[in-house]
Amino acid sequence: MNFQDTPTPCFIVDEAKLFSNLETLASVKARTDCKILLALKGFAMWPLFPIIGKFLDGVCASSPWEARLGREEFGGEVHAFAAAYSGDDFAELLTLCDEIDFNSFAQFKKFRSRIAGVSPALGLRINPECSTQDHAIYDPCAPKSRLGITRDQFDGESLDGISGLHFHTLCEQNVDALETTLKAVEEKFGEFLPQMEWVNFGGGHHITRADYDVDRLCELINAFKAKYGVQVILEPGEAVALNAGVLIASVLDIVHNEMDIAILDTSCTCHMPDVLEMPYRPVITGAGEPGEKAHTVRLAGLSCLAGDVIGDYSFDQPLKPGDQIEFLDMAHYTMVKTTFFNGIQHPAIAIQRGDEIDVVREFNYQDYKNRLA
Ligand SMILES: *Cc1c(COP(=O)(O)O)cnc(C)c1O
Repeated sequence: MNFQDTPTPCFIVDEAKLFSNLETLASVKARTDCKILLALKGFAMWPLFPIIGKFLDGVCASSPWEARLGREEFGGEVHAFAAAYSGDDFAELLTLCDEIDFNSFAQFKKFRSRIAGVSPALGLRINPECSTQDHAIYDPCAPKSRLGITRDQFDGESLDGISGLHFHTLCEQNVDALETTLKAVEEKFGEFLPQMEWVNFGGGHHITRADYDVDRLCELINAFKAKYGVQVILEPGEAVALNAGVLIASVLDIVHNEMDIAILDTSCTCHMPDVLEMPYRPVITGAGEPGEKAHTVRLAGLSCLAGDVIGDYSFDQPLKPGDQIEFLDMAHYTMVKTTFFNGIQHPAIAIQRGDEIDVVREFNYQDYKNRLA
């Protein structure tokens, strides 16, 4: 696909690729009768919710604003979890949610008395203390984690009003990590599972990745359901939009300091912050490892942050101003995390339908100004 006519920088989400992910997720639902929710914190491009809503059961929200977006634009169930709720947050969530999960017994006890009328389903997030990944910043089971109730803090006598348990411990992982985690959940919390109506396995399941073992996932879900008589819920964010969109940027200038450095009209810290936070190296169409192709160049952002560097890549031809760079897999954890730092032109947001690009949002000076007062 040639994006030469598209203004840059621009996030472009391909409907067909999203559709293909959704079909995979729908197959898991069909084979297990589990519920699958879109985790809005990973992908919340709401013009696409009508498509996603045809396949998934609803959304999971981290805040009243996400819950409201789900209620307004998605049309299915709205579930919420946050590390803690303020009184105002909880009051608003009560008007929006089908299910609310608490991160402590103290919050559960404090807020359950404020529920008048029909209660949403109430759940508790547990911490099975089973780390299956190396990225401490994304590991809710890391030592001293605040996310989820550990077994020693779990008050099995105070479950009246609780209909389910929730755990979220994975990040970009295959089913083997889920299997290990389920064993830990059963070992620590198994005695409470038969009295639950549902168990939420959280997100971090890379279900739509080519090597993901979907068959094994279905086996695990079906076995868990049969053993405990519970509804199983999954809430992936990344898997919904995995490989479904790109970020297109243009080269503005090439400077030289020991090596060629291309300055782009995007910014790593502003527009793809996970590249610095995780960190990871994004894949770029037509580019190789440094030294692999004839021309090696460092790709860097427009901001004043010295570390605003995406990485070193090589190309067949030397880059020149005006050339476009296509960063792959930029749909999830990008648009939801971007900032207006440095007041840099914010990427437009577009939908690709076949050969057509429909720019659904462009940002202007007022958007920047309105965030500051
Ligand atoms: C982040 C998060 C998710 C989604 O995780 P992905 O890695 O995007 O699948 C789901 N549930 C909770 C509680 C989360 O914090």
